[in-house]
Amino acid sequence: MTSLKNVIVNYQENEYENEIKNKTICIIGYGNQGRSQALNLKDSGLHVIIGNNNDSYAEEARKDGFKVFNIVDAAKYGDIVFLLIPDEIQKSIYDKEIGPNLRKGAVLVFASGYNYYYGLISVRQDITVLMIAPRMIGWGVRDVYLKNMGFPVLVGIGNDPEKKGNNILMTICNMLGVFRSGGCAVMSSFMEETLVDLLSEHSWVGAMLYLFRAYYEVATELGASPASVILELYGSGELAEIAAAMKDQGLFEQLKTHSRTSQYGQLTRGPEYVMDEIKGLIKKEAMDILNGKFAREWTEEENYGYLVYNKLHELARKHPMEKDERELYKILGRL
Ligand code: NDP
Repeated sequence: MTSLKNVIVNYQENEYENEIKNKTICIIGYGNQGRSQALNLKDSGLHVIIGNNNDSYAEEARKDGFKVFNIVDAAKYGDIVFLLIPDEIQKSIYDKEIGPNLRKGAVLVFASGYNYYYGLISVRQDITVLMIAPRMIGWGVRDVYLKNMGFPVLVGIGNDPEKKGNNILMTICNMLGVFRSGGCAVMSSFMEETLVDLLSEHSWVGAMLYLFRAYYEVATELGASPASVILELYGSGELAEIAAAMKDQGLFEQLKTHSRTSQYGQLTRGPEYVMDEIKGLIKKEAMDILNGKFAREWTEEENYGYLVYNKLHELARKHPMEKDERELYKILGRL
């Protein structure tokens, strides 16, 4: 069996726990992750400040009781600086506003492996670089904390000039609420996080969108009504229930909550979609992630990624399924 020794479920006390109480935690960005992580750390008793442009996010942070600074000043004040702004803009903001202003010996925390793994952000040698990448959407990080529960994170250590990286990492995870019931920290790396995160998006998550569309085309051509198709696929919320059962019971174990007819259909027909060619495709995508081809396409080539992104969104909106979905959601009072 593969080793699962890298899964840490219990916090081990260490000497940094006292040190962190005297540190200023600076959260750059007050969006999905920024707000939740800032509130969790504050409620765990740490001194937290926010760095953000002076707009509605900053206003929200003030309402939540934080002192808000512009990004340059926040970076100057922080002993531990969390970079919680979108991945694709991190490099330009870091290079101009954060990197040159970090205190000597500061700690920099990423929530994803992307920019550090690809070397897009290069960090001074005196800075300790850590990764705490939640496997949980932003509001969930706050929601489980308020329910006194934990959540899973992938963690990693980059630069570690003072060799305190592991203790700092574990202490911050503990303060974020990671080690409460149901949570864990998986000792990982910037590379692994980048691979598993992007590979999901480049394989089954993306494929699911287009498989749903193919299903819609076939079923409506055969006379099924758009409402029945959309509710069947995702509109009813059953899909979310299946995902929750996978999390709680396991991928195949949850099958037992479906009818026997359903299980028979899934087990006999499902494998037909995953031939060797599909595995080859997943491997090709994995290589494009690891060798940086995808990252260059998305973030480096003169806005190319954004142009394609906008075009594909526009095209997606024109599909008849999209129009039917909007109509249905209006009738159901969701819009
Ligand atoms: P958001 O999109 O929610 O970030 C919004 C924040 O970024 C706002 O404070 C916004 O402030 C700021 N921001 C946006 N553009 C700029 C800019 N040009 N200059 C300065 N600030 C800017 O980010 P997420 O929370 O989704 O992601 C943050 C990190 O967390 C990423 O590394 C991501 O990969 C990681 N992550 C995210 C998860 C998620 O659930 N979303 C899950 C796990 C990891 P303003 O617009 O006012 O400038």
